Amino acid sequence: MSERKTLFVDVILPIAVRNEFTYRVPYELNDEVRSGMRVIVPFGKGKLYTGIISRVHEEIPSGYQSKYIEHLLDERPITTPKQYQFWKWISEYYMAPIGDVLNAALPSNFKLASETKIVLHPDFDIQKSSSNERFAQVIDTLEVQEILDLKQISEILGIKTIQPIIKQMMDARIIMSLEELNEKFTPKTATYYFIASHYQQEDILQELLQSFENQKSKEKQLTALMTFLSKSDLRTGYQLPVAKKTLEESGVSTSALDTLVKNGVLVSEKLQIDRIQNKDNALEDAKKLSDIQQVALDQIRSAYQEKDVCLLHGVTGSGKTEIYVDLIQEQIEQGKQVLFLLPEIALTTQLIQRLSKHFGDAIGVYHSKFNQNERVEIWNHVLNNDPNKYKIVMGARSSIFLPFTNLGLIIVDEEHESSFKQYDPSPRYNARDCAIVLGILHKAKVLLGSATPSIESYYNAKTDKYALVDLHQRHGGLQLPEIFCADLKEERRQKTMHSHISSFLMLAIEEEFNTGGQIILFQNRRGYTPSWSCEVCNWTPRCNSCDVSLTYHKHSNTLKCHYCGYASAPVGTCGSCGSNRLKMVGFGTEKIEDELALMFPDKVISRLDLDTTRSKNAYQQIIHDFATGKIDVLIGTQMITKGLDFDNVNLVGILDADMLLNRPDFRAFERSYQLMSQVSGRAGRKHKRGKVIVQTGQPDHWIIQKVMQHDYHSFYSNEITERRNFFYPPFYKLIQLTLRHKEAIQIDRAAVELAQNLKTVFKERVLGPEYALIPRINNLYIKQITIKIEREVSQKQVKERIQEMIDFFYT
Ligand code: ADP
Ligand code: ZN
Ligand code: ZN
Repeated sequence: MSERKTLFVDVILPIAVRNEFTYRVPYELNDEVRSGMRVIVPFGKGKLYTGIISRVHEEIPSGYQSKYIEHLLDERPITTPKQYQFWKWISEYYMAPIGDVLNAALPSNFKLASETKIVLHPDFDIQKSSSNERFAQVIDTLEVQEILDLKQISEILGIKTIQPIIKQMMDARIIMSLEELNEKFTPKTATYYFIASHYQQEDILQELLQSFENQKSKEKQLTALMTFLSKSDLRTGYQLPVAKKTLEESGVSTSALDTLVKNGVLVSEKLQIDRIQNKDNALEDAKKLSDIQQVALDQIRSAYQEKDVCLLHGVTGSGKTEIYVDLIQEQIEQGKQVLFLLPEIALTTQLIQRLSKHFGDAIGVYHSKFNQNERVEIWNHVLNNDPNKYKIVMGARSSIFLPFTNLGLIIVDEEHESSFKQYDPSPRYNARDCAIVLGILHKAKVLLGSATPSIESYYNAKTDKYALVDLHQRHGGLQLPEIFCADLKEERRQKTMHSHISSFLMLAIEEEFNTGGQIILFQNRRGYTPSWSCEVCNWTPRCNSCDVSLTYHKHSNTLKCHYCGYASAPVGTCGSCGSNRLKMVGFGTEKIEDELALMFPDKVISRLDLDTTRSKNAYQQIIHDFATGKIDVLIGTQMITKGLDFDNVNLVGILDADMLLNRPDFRAFERSYQLMSQVSGRAGRKHKRGKVIVQTGQPDHWIIQKVMQHDYHSFYSNEITERRNFFYPPFYKLIQLTLRHKEAIQIDRAAVELAQNLKTVFKERVLGPEYALIPRINNLYIKQITIKIEREVSQKQVKERIQEMIDFFYT
């Protein structure tokens, strides 16, 4: 070894601090430490954290004595220098501590801390002694002590770098973390059957079938096998496992299946239901693009000669997905990685299945709700740029944090969706905007796709920052649906409403039932009624901890707070005047479902919202039942507007457009236009032109008019003018500061003081303080200060100045 250097590392800790911290490297780790590796370090009073090394250097920190690293967890870096740059950007742009960014970026399994408890794996056979001496030491101690933490293990083994050993032992299923053992997610498995490899040859299989046919006693086995074969798809090299349940539902007897397994014809295996999904579809070739689609694809390709970001503005049903498939294919052939960002994973199983048909196992799905081990598995494959697996990652916003090493293309589907924005806790990033930065870092191309682009993206396209490609025809020459208005004011006056459904919509529903089409009804509010109100004094029951009224849920017969989850029994009398004349005001999806069921008792009416999709597979089940025609009417919240593709939906009803339009938010009109156009887009996608009925009290509202005319362009030019006139994005950047405190007086004083300080520098750009839309949530009062900054001004300087003032304010 060369002379002993004194090395230091800078470490990012996953806590809300803006600095990185310098630690000393013990000499024995000098040759091993590299940036991107995890270390366990002491911080604060006796606390240990897992952090990431951002830099290895020899600069002795001045002013304090640096502490030593406790453990080095990795043999190889698990994050890349590009990720570090990316985190730094997010931290600066969103004014978030780098620790918060790290926290959002790493799967929690990686944050293996010295407090992590290790136990013996339940499958591990203690009788089998291990030949590895170190393993044996750990096993022996665990046998006695049952639980050990990393620090204890390090002491037992007398070494500092214990992660490789822990990892090997975990991989060998000797130990696991206690957290993992307790993890609520227990994978659901089911029995599946495969055909034994011997019988996969056509002639041998035929012979067997012949022999069964000739023997009366083998009749049941023959039926079982034939049913299996009809369900499986024995194409060369690719066979579908068939679920036991499926076979039983087709009348196959369990005993016949058992016999087939015993005789070595079929093989049974328990498989995880989630994992099998890719296999449920046989691989399919890409669809041949239509001429119009081909032109769009060529335009995208040539746009990429000059620009890195392209906006694909394609109306609903124009076949954007088919274009994505071609672009992805191209990247895969060049050995590149592709990131496909989706607004919400749970809501887009249909799309995942469509892409799985083309790309099979090359697709990995990454989502923060996924089992931690699966996330780590995908992380590692992406880091190693595995040529066989997960070249394509489909994921919700957190997948921008994966350690890509050879990224060629990022697709942001439904780029206008608000769920790309992460709200609480910090760093509060927008994954669409981050994706563009990520693209630049990797020199990868970015494709934003939408039928209703966000004002910001369209503005960027119009001003030549992005390329713009239009696809304004539905595939197969189908016309976009015809959109009508039901004038609620008029119908109320004439008393022709059927509760919340206008006669106009009612007629259309009946007509649809007669012709056998399916119907989607959109109401962006869940629950039964948003509030009860006293007819005498207007009192409404409210949440104790938040300033909102409680929503009545009939199914559970409770009043619930949608902000903090508080639930109480419904009240019978007014809490203010004691009268018992309480009436229901407004309506949610649950109430519509109830009312329709009464009106159409012989129809199957179902609901898709947060309440009906809480259990793991509920969403898929409802979508499946609707797609296969088992449901006649599907009522849903905005969940129903996203990217769904059903063949037989001809009528869409938007029950309360006014509720969308009247939200107090500068993006309310944009959101209304997008939601209404998107949900309309579910109608008439395959066979005939669809029909949409919008119920509104303001049929002349310009947004409703633009929706009816499918006129995105003039919607855009109106809206962009408003934005310019009223100093909103994309012309101005909005920075919102939120203050929370449990005392109203405290928050008032603090907010005023901070705002005044800010005004001395930023003048009239500072707005507020004002109470938030919901002034109190979970017993904390919330006040906001908004700062509007011209686009041309250096954002970096402004943010630094604001940060200084906030820091000063806290001292
Ligand atoms: P979008 O994502 O733009 O809303 P989709 O990609 O879902 O549109 O396409 C709408 C429907 O048209 C889908 O059912 C799709 O399978 C079908 N489709 C689109 N392009 C083609 C094509 N080139 N050949 C056959 N079917 C197509
Ligand atoms: Zn509440
Ligand atoms: Zn009252």
